[in-house]
Amino acid sequence: MPFYPNLIKSKLPKAGTTIFTVMSALASEQKAINLSQGFPNFEASEELISLVYQYMKKGFNQYAPMQGILPLRERIAEKTESLYGAQYNPDTEITITSGGTQAIYTAITAMVREGDEVVVLEPAYDSYVPAIELAGGVPVYVALKFPDYTIDWNAVKKVISQRTKMILINTPHNPSGTVWTQKDMQELEKITSHSEITIVSDEVYEHILFDGLRHESVMRYPKLAERSFVVFSFGKTYHTTGWKMGYCLAPEKLMMEFRRVHQFVVFSSNTPIQYALADFMENKNYLELPQFYQEKRDYFLRLLAGSKFKFKPATGSYFQLLDYSAITREKDTDFAVRLTKQFKVASIPISSFYHEPIDNKLLRFCFAKTNETLEMAAERLQKV
Ligand code: GLN
Repeated sequence: MPFYPNLIKSKLPKAGTTIFTVMSALASEQKAINLSQGFPNFEASEELISLVYQYMKKGFNQYAPMQGILPLRERIAEKTESLYGAQYNPDTEITITSGGTQAIYTAITAMVREGDEVVVLEPAYDSYVPAIELAGGVPVYVALKFPDYTIDWNAVKKVISQRTKMILINTPHNPSGTVWTQKDMQELEKITSHSEITIVSDEVYEHILFDGLRHESVMRYPKLAERSFVVFSFGKTYHTTGWKMGYCLAPEKLMMEFRRVHQFVVFSSNTPIQYALADFMENKNYLELPQFYQEKRDYFLRLLAGSKFKFKPATGSYFQLLDYSAITREKDTDFAVRLTKQFKVASIPISSFYHEPIDNKLLRFCFAKTNETLEMAAERLQKV
């Protein structure tokens, strides 16, 4: 084939394969325990799986409505009101998506134009920036303060201008395992009030907070909620990340724009799973998640006591950062690979969550795993 130099001009020239796919592939090639990509290695509820099967057998196998089935949107509205005291109209303000990542992509695509600036707090989940760039937007980076990953509000204020179109926030935070406080939300409220700034709030770990901490959803703050797209994930809540189901909440006018895009990105999401989730949500199982994951965090950290890794317990999400500075000066990307090959435990190097790698000698480990897996992983990490 002749070479056409202008046939392909990458729209994401810097993007390699996402680190989650790279590390999961290496884990499987090396037969290592995979604590890299965030997903549970235990089963979802039998009841939920059997509900999906029943709806498939009953013939719920064609397109769902573009915005999602009404009963599921109604259950979500009830849950949102009871947990966060916020009212969202199921008809006009709630949309079912094919996962959290699609919801984030859709909200950014709906709002961001050529040259618009979007504030990204780093380290940041790796889908945010490509979505901004594909929309022609310009990411403006503010680093969270090391080592506690708190927000430097003065630094945020400094980058805000007339060009700021959006701020992306994420609590509980991936990858740091920290959570925002009420004070943070109040600061965000001050910065955005009387502005034209929209917010995308990635709250997919809403039920995974520890030590009695409360999830500070933007929806608890009416002045933030009025300008926010709030993104959730059924995968995180029901141990079904492979189903790729999530949802987005936003006030009617914002949601109208979201749906304009959503209908042409995926049209609609999986039908039988939506019916199953609508039934299953009634049991409010998600209320047990904080304790469930806190036990896993505590167990994993107890098993690591006395190892050469240093850590501050995660306060949210199912990720734990481990500091390996007492072990080696290797770059985190190199050490993550060596740990996978030599010690057979895969993790994610934190520098990959920055646009210009910042290497603080930290790796992220997912503890959404069976106790046996955590025991095996810890035994290997103890040998490092
Ligand atoms: N959100 C999960 C993580 O951070 C996985 C997402 C993905 O693989 N794209 O590991």
